[in-house]
Amino acid sequence: MNVLKFGGTSVATAPAMRQVRTIIEKTGGAIVVLSACGGVTNRLLYGIQLAGDGQSAGATEIVNEIEQRHLDLCRDLLPDESLQRNILSKVKTLCEELRVFCEGVALLGECTPRSIDIAGSFGERLSTLVFSLYCQAEGINAVLFDVRGIMRTDSNFTSAKINFPELQRLSDEKLTPLLTDGAIIITQGFIGSDKRGITTTLGRGGSDLSAALIGAAIAADEILIYTDVSGIASADPRIIPTARPIPEMSFAEARELSFYGAKVLHPETILPAVERDIPVRVLNTFAPDDTGTLIVAKATREHGISAQERRRR
Ligand code: ADP
Ligand code: ASP
Ligand code: MG
Repeated sequence: MNVLKFGGTSVATAPAMRQVRTIIEKTGGAIVVLSACGGVTNRLLYGIQLAGDGQSAGATEIVNEIEQRHLDLCRDLLPDESLQRNILSKVKTLCEELRVFCEGVALLGECTPRSIDIAGSFGERLSTLVFSLYCQAEGINAVLFDVRGIMRTDSNFTSAKINFPELQRLSDEKLTPLLTDGAIIITQGFIGSDKRGITTTLGRGGSDLSAALIGAAIAADEILIYTDVSGIASADPRIIPTARPIPEMSFAEARELSFYGAKVLHPETILPAVERDIPVRVLNTFAPDDTGTLIVAKATREHGISAQERRRR
């Protein structure tokens, strides 16, 4: 069983979500961890900040904008109106919950880290809701799983730390029984809950960590991090288009590259997987046949340029 994680750009638009669907269809069963649709987390955090400043109208406007974006996404994914009805009403219900929550925060005029996490969680809750209903409508055996039922953290809101033994215990109890018959389990990155069940988040960019933790908890065969570039390159390929992805690197090399500015993946986030010898691949959602980068505890081959070599040049 593999864990596949798709970042914000991979679920930002209807064509991107269709692409994700074609990838997961080929897996024959997997756990799929999604980020919020690209840009949504930033808007949520801005919205809740406005609410905390007492600017209820401004916060509501942002919720309306986020709602509209997801409704448009649903209409684009499922042009058939009778199929749309269920998905649109579920998106509206979730956005209404967010609207009411923001109004409450605006009334209090105070935005606590705990409120920030509740607001921030709606991005992943919305992306997974839309994507899972879309997959089900396409006849895929997709199950939406609320990760907060297993991703047990402390109460350090906005950068909560995981309680791994509890994650392990809860995933054995609640997640493992679902991993049957080619089911695709669709769940949220970034979010968790503390022992009282209150929503927490793992910190910005936390979905990679979520994927590694889930992979470690279920002893996954591989963790596949799908993003918008074909692996980790010697430099950011968006800035230096000739930079080529490095086919295989050790965790230490990944860490070093990140230290020197490779912002694709924070290596510490995949440590839970590397420590258990679970290979992590960084792949491109939009070019899924590209080799990508394989990160292993210790590299067996020396491909490409290691970070140390880069430094010597
Ligand atoms: P996601 O939303 O999928 O988590 P991120 O935006 O966090 O994606 O990371 C992917 C981005 O990382 C790429 O679009 C790329 O511009 C950037 N990046 C920075 N440095 C590197 C590098 N050395 N190799 C590959 N990508 C890099
Ligand atoms: N959606 C969260 C963020 O934007 C987590 C993630 O994308 O990894 O930080
Ligand atoms: Mg990222």
